Amino acid sequence: LATETLTLQTILNEIADTMNASTERGTVANYIPELAAVDPNQFGISVALPTGEVFNAGCAQQLFSIQSISKVFSLTLALGKIGDAVWNKVGREPSGDPFNSIVQLEHEHGKPRNPFINAGAIAVVDSIMMGHEPKEVLAEILQFVRYIANDNSVAIDEKVALSELATGHRNASLAHFMASFGRIEHDINKLLGAYYHQCSISMSCEQLAKSGLFLVSDGVNRVTGKQIVSSQRARRINSLMLMCGHYDGSGEFAYRVGLPGKSGVGGGILAIAPGKASIAVWSPGLDTIGNSKLGTLALELLVQRTGWSVF
Ligand code: GLU
Repeated sequence: LATETLTLQTILNEIADTMNASTERGTVANYIPELAAVDPNQFGISVALPTGEVFNAGCAQQLFSIQSISKVFSLTLALGKIGDAVWNKVGREPSGDPFNSIVQLEHEHGKPRNPFINAGAIAVVDSIMMGHEPKEVLAEILQFVRYIANDNSVAIDEKVALSELATGHRNASLAHFMASFGRIEHDINKLLGAYYHQCSISMSCEQLAKSGLFLVSDGVNRVTGKQIVSSQRARRINSLMLMCGHYDGSGEFAYRVGLPGKSGVGGGILAIAPGKASIAVWSPGLDTIGNSKLGTLALELLVQRTGWSVF
């Protein structure tokens, strides 16, 4: 094991060196002013193993906005609260459309294709609100993320949330459009407030990698010994991440990386190598679809070096 772990650290160092030398970093998300201000010249990677070992390279402790990666956590929470009734609110098919697209909603009577595009994630938050105030729902989401990350310091970046609120016309349109089909149960302003705050959770690569451990080991976080979800549910969340985790770039990510993964427009990606490791990468520059450019490349290199693809 000593040689294996040494090799893993060497691989991560090499990947971080390659990424730090890259000049092809993509562009930071510019539609959310707070995110547009983030320095694109940053790269971090963290690999958490079920044994409790964690390997880091680059700025793996730097906090960043997890954005859509939070959608994995809110879906997990929603499944725990209302079980399969979640699937009355959202589907389980890849969308093939951009993350904030409204087009498909019209064809499917306001039912979003999957829980990982914006419309789907807004519908998921609607399903967990259950008449509660946004503050209470957020406390619950945050508590859940802290629980799975085994880290009570995880927090929400209020500035990012307010920045999203001020510029979130598209998300408001999605919510109103779904409401026009009678699919939204709560006050839209409260619902969007909860959604933006959920997206504005800040985490480091290390915290994020640790939070994915339950998806590595059949629903159990082997480090804390806690069963977070059943093994069947863990497998199902992983399949959704593989099929839908990168918006309309999900096919390309599966082709290049071959792991369940979820990206966010803050430049983070959480990827799961079932039975092996939970991996988080972060680099704020995005490709044209909205997925971290260097983050994807780093995962591609990691999988080539470790053979951790699910295929
Ligand atoms: N909060 C972002 C939005 O709603 C999430 C987008 C993302 O990470 O895909 O636009």
